[in-house]
Amino acid sequence: MINVAIDGPAGAGKSTIAKAAAKRLGFIYVDTGALYRAVALNAKRNGALNDNGKLTKMLESTEISLKFDESGSQRVILNGEDVSSLIRTPEISMGASKVSAVPQVRAFLLDLQRNIAAENNVIMDGRDIGTVVLPEAQVKIFLTASPEKRAERRYKELIEKGESVMYEDVLSDVIQRDYQDSHRKIAPMKPCRTSVIADTSELTLEESIELIIKIIKGEE
Ligand code: C5P
Repeated sequence: MINVAIDGPAGAGKSTIAKAAAKRLGFIYVDTGALYRAVALNAKRNGALNDNGKLTKMLESTEISLKFDESGSQRVILNGEDVSSLIRTPEISMGASKVSAVPQVRAFLLDLQRNIAAENNVIMDGRDIGTVVLPEAQVKIFLTASPEKRAERRYKELIEKGESVMYEDVLSDVIQRDYQDSHRKIAPMKPCRTSVIADTSELTLEESIELIIKIIKGEE
């Protein structure tokens, strides 16, 4: 199986770029952030977001799985419920960043991610895919862009979805999440020695997709 690991900060365009690249290559695209988001949603529902003891206990009765529909789109199933849309809110973004720092949560999601990669050609996107989840991945990419560019993209996305947000708040969320994700003790977000760094700050979406495909094919 061919495994491509794409890591990097929130809003670098990872999911859009990786999804499009996977489609063109006939690979499955796996968005691992959705798994942490599903844990965060369940934690919110159980009042466990700020209580690590409760959160760890909650995992015993939490079932999360991924499904892929005919178009290759990923659906996240939490205890039998499709929560794919419910997990896309700023509150759950921040909650996911919080629960992802808890070792039991990371351990809980590890096998699920590895099993999918063992059975499929995948582009898997996250924060620790190249470093922890798939250290043997044939291709590792660290996809990034400046915090301002990333906030600008996220802001536009949220506005298009009809959310009322301020650019300054989105930027400070991006910066706070970067800090949390790269400073946590366990599986911090960082490129690994063999990652190809791809900066999309000055690239269009199409240019970014082409760059990623070239890297995967070993042409860049
Ligand atoms: O990528 P996304 O914004 O959906 O991720 C939500 C949060 O989940 C991130 O801020 C990060 O804290 C966490 N995450 C992680 N490891 C991954 C994927 C996401 O810690 N592989």
